[in-house]
Amino acid sequence: MAFVDPTDPCVHCGFCLPTCASYRVLGTEMDSPRGRIHTLKAIEAGELELDATVASHFDSCLGCFACVSACPSGVRYDQLIEATRPKLNQPELRSSWQTSFRQLLLLVLPYPKRLRALLIPLRAYAGTGLQRFARRSGLLKLLGPQLEAMEALLPPLPPEGLTDRLPSLNPAQGKKRGRVGLVLGCVQRCFDPGVNEATVAVLQANGFEVVIPAHQGCCGAVSHHQGQLKQTQKLASDLVQSFSGEALDAVLVAASGCGHTMKSYEKLLDGADNFNAPVLDVHEFLANRGLSDAFLKALTPLPCTVAYHDACHMIHGQGIAAQPRNLLRAIPQLQLKEATEAGVCCGSAGIYNLVQPDEAAALGQLKADDLSSTGAEIVASANIGCSLQLRRHLSSEGPEVCHPMELLARSAGLSLAPALTTGGEASSVPPPQQHS
Ligand code: SF4
Ligand code: SF4
Repeated sequence: MAFVDPTDPCVHCGFCLPTCASYRVLGTEMDSPRGRIHTLKAIEAGELELDATVASHFDSCLGCFACVSACPSGVRYDQLIEATRPKLNQPELRSSWQTSFRQLLLLVLPYPKRLRALLIPLRAYAGTGLQRFARRSGLLKLLGPQLEAMEALLPPLPPEGLTDRLPSLNPAQGKKRGRVGLVLGCVQRCFDPGVNEATVAVLQANGFEVVIPAHQGCCGAVSHHQGQLKQTQKLASDLVQSFSGEALDAVLVAASGCGHTMKSYEKLLDGADNFNAPVLDVHEFLANRGLSDAFLKALTPLPCTVAYHDACHMIHGQGIAAQPRNLLRAIPQLQLKEATEAGVCCGSAGIYNLVQPDEAAALGQLKADDLSSTGAEIVASANIGCSLQLRRHLSSEGPEVCHPMELLARSAGLSLAPALTTGGEASSVPPPQQHS
């Protein structure tokens, strides 16, 4: 396949540059969308070789697609980078450490059983005095930048994340309005299990029966972002298989990185069986169907300020920005704040913050500063990768990070365990108040 469609309409205007996360922190043309398009054309024309140096300028791309939203000429940079990524996996294009580290991540992260086996011994460390001591002591520097970045992202590990506790059938409450499936996400179910619990509770309270097939695996988003097509296709077809035989109105997900990949299954699976219902982000679904009258009546005031964080795979990848905000506006006395740079990546980007830790840390700090400057008490994030990245970079006195579904569940008084906490820490979200 050609690297670049020769008819691509890039006119080199540079409108995409200010939105580009990698250009923002590296400042070089080769690390911008315009520069990468130029490079691809040069490779295609035989004027440039794809060697390790050239490949590093593609590895610096976060795949956030802010450039696609910004481009007035309709350049599909997302398609260009997706076609390029598999070519970057040739062993001679990265150091052996980088190749091995990426392989290790792809052997563990998309498999909840393996991930949990690794996390169980880490429970004695994560969120404890030992972790605080190790961070203060500077000993972690000895691990090297990638492993140090992994440690820095490690949140307290709630015991609920170590098993799948949600039943496979969760009945609708009140008048039944439909039947939906829920994809749990492999990282989300381990690191932030309260998000899926809140999502199920909100859907049930809105009259939807929620089906969660036991033994469902990963959607393939992590390997998809790395251009590992065979692994992605296997994960995708296994996930589709786990939902087969269920009559559903929609297959939902509450992590936008997963949703973006699942929406591309038709192309990824190339004619093989796909879900027999549309894939939708849970915010998109609830906004389309509307919150039920009973649920709206049950919402009690949450007098707090909230900055909604746009995950790139939500706003640029799926075009979803208004729906989560409108759902949050349904909560009485909740006041939404807008960050200045809503469309710029936080630096999470799948495993980017592990494999490119310096660039990711710089972006994480910029995003944390931008969100903190709103003065909001809460940051609402609908993507687990962003949530982990933001929790790492927001100061301990800064805003708390919650999923919008957790805020809706909280306002509606839906009981969850753990309720709106991160690893057992007390939530700064005030308890709901009764309508006067
Ligand atoms: S990708 Fe689009 S915005 Fe960027 S330089 Fe080309 S035409 Fe301009
Ligand atoms: S996908 Fe994001 S990081 Fe990559 S070129 Fe586009 S804006 Fe820059």
